[in-house]
Amino acid sequence: MTGQPFSAPADVLIIGSGPAGWTAAIYAARANLRTVVFTGSGRNGLPGGQLMMTTEVENFPGFDEGVIGPDLMERMKRQALRFGVVTIEADVTRVEFSQRPFVVIAATSDGEEQYAGRSVIVATGASPLWLGLPSEARLRGRGVSSCATCDGFFFRGEAVGVVGGGDSALEEALYLARHASAVTVIHRRDQLRASKIMQDRARAHPAIQWALNKEVVEILGDRRVEGVRLRDTKTGEESVLPLQGLFVAIGHRPNTELFRGQLELDGDGYLITHRHTQTSIPGVFAAGDVADRRYRQAITAAATGAMAALDAEEFLTGERWTDWGDGQSLATQETSTYTPLAVIDSAAAPAVPEPIMTSPQRPRVVMYTTSWCPDCHAAKRYLGRLGIAYEEINIEETPGAAMLVEQWSGGYRTVPTFDINGTIIVDFNRDALDRALQSHRAASQVDQSD
Ligand SMILES: Cc1cc2nc3c(=O)[nH]c(=O)nc-3n(C[C@H](O)[C@H](O)[C@H](O)COP(=O)(O)OP(=O)(O)OC[C@H]3O[C@@H](n4cnc5c(N)ncnc54)[C@H](O)[C@@H]3O)c2cc1C
Repeated sequence: MTGQPFSAPADVLIIGSGPAGWTAAIYAARANLRTVVFTGSGRNGLPGGQLMMTTEVENFPGFDEGVIGPDLMERMKRQALRFGVVTIEADVTRVEFSQRPFVVIAATSDGEEQYAGRSVIVATGASPLWLGLPSEARLRGRGVSSCATCDGFFFRGEAVGVVGGGDSALEEALYLARHASAVTVIHRRDQLRASKIMQDRARAHPAIQWALNKEVVEILGDRRVEGVRLRDTKTGEESVLPLQGLFVAIGHRPNTELFRGQLELDGDGYLITHRHTQTSIPGVFAAGDVADRRYRQAITAAATGAMAALDAEEFLTGERWTDWGDGQSLATQETSTYTPLAVIDSAAAPAVPEPIMTSPQRPRVVMYTTSWCPDCHAAKRYLGRLGIAYEEINIEETPGAAMLVEQWSGGYRTVPTFDINGTIIVDFNRDALDRALQSHRAASQVDQSD
């Protein structure tokens, strides 16, 4: 078996690194259980979970001034690592719950690795839903986005729309109103689902407008978003709203495909729990949004993470099908998974030459980012793990960079965008990135042997 961080099966394998996953990890590790967290790689939700996509979190107790989403997640992670949790920065691609110990298979840069665990906590959360329009798929990254904090900067002084009527939609609208000249919230009904406080804030903002009782039937534009065709949900009348960006915030679906056929799911794909946090298989527990269609809050996810860890502990000590209760401390066990080999610290990097593309000193791997882009963080970790040196250019801080990214990429307005010796890669697409890096490596090996 490859990949196993312990010589024996782990006590708890936790799949997911949102508030539920990290809280479960803190509880499990403090109970002296050998604990492994699979953080995810960014393909099915982000390492750190949904809060990586937001700025201010005002309702998580203990932060009287509010806390920035990614900061809160970093703190939870550090707290868990303090107690000896082992992290695997990879997606789980398969699970085998019909055998014991349970087997979890993760896709790492070295291929597939198997991990054995005496119990499992599923905390895979949820991913954004899309409208499902052909025009949406065609214009993703070209003005259509699900992450205002990532891509909002590209729309400075422009008109954008936000589809949705919940707290997340209004949060996106308020964030976008910092950059855009006008933000129209498009919602199918005349009543919003969002909390009163969020509605009051959004309604008070002069840049936010409302298109209620309207649904998007088509996103207009050939190579970039130019507008949306709306249909009135009451009269059926159609109209066109010109805009340059459309942010979709219509909700989430639970990340449970992986468990279909092994764990009991409800009609919408949420995990069904029996007896507290236990799923249909004893020893496999569920925590957070993956099993919660009702509350879907960071604090409730954290709470069920704690519950799942306590349930796992009871399961392990009560059932005693294998005796691992040797009380061995986890404090001395290895905690980190990789060390970046050659990451150039952007803070220490020299000022960016302008224009970047024509500089003879153009670095080989350049990653264009924004400060709140979770995929950028995932990509940085990925390059770090591969030992690839790169230069980071934050487009918010580098005049002209946003415009150049858009030009080189043929109209894409999204980050991360990579320039690998002139090959432009939009989005954190590992396969494309791997291919470009491979040919870049091959070319530099030829250079060196010349
Ligand atoms: C924009 C936005 C703003 C929000 N603001 C607030 C707020 O202000 N206050 C609040 O209380 N809540 C807020 N929420 C809701 C809150 O973020 C969620 O309720 C909470 O994050 C759920 O936590 P979770 O741990 O269950 O799942 P998530 O946060 O969704 O985390 C799931 C984790 O599972 C991982 N994962 C998924 N599949 C796999 C796999 N196959 N292998 C390995 N890992 C995997 C992902 O990488 C991720 O780490 C907000 C949500 C959004 C989208």
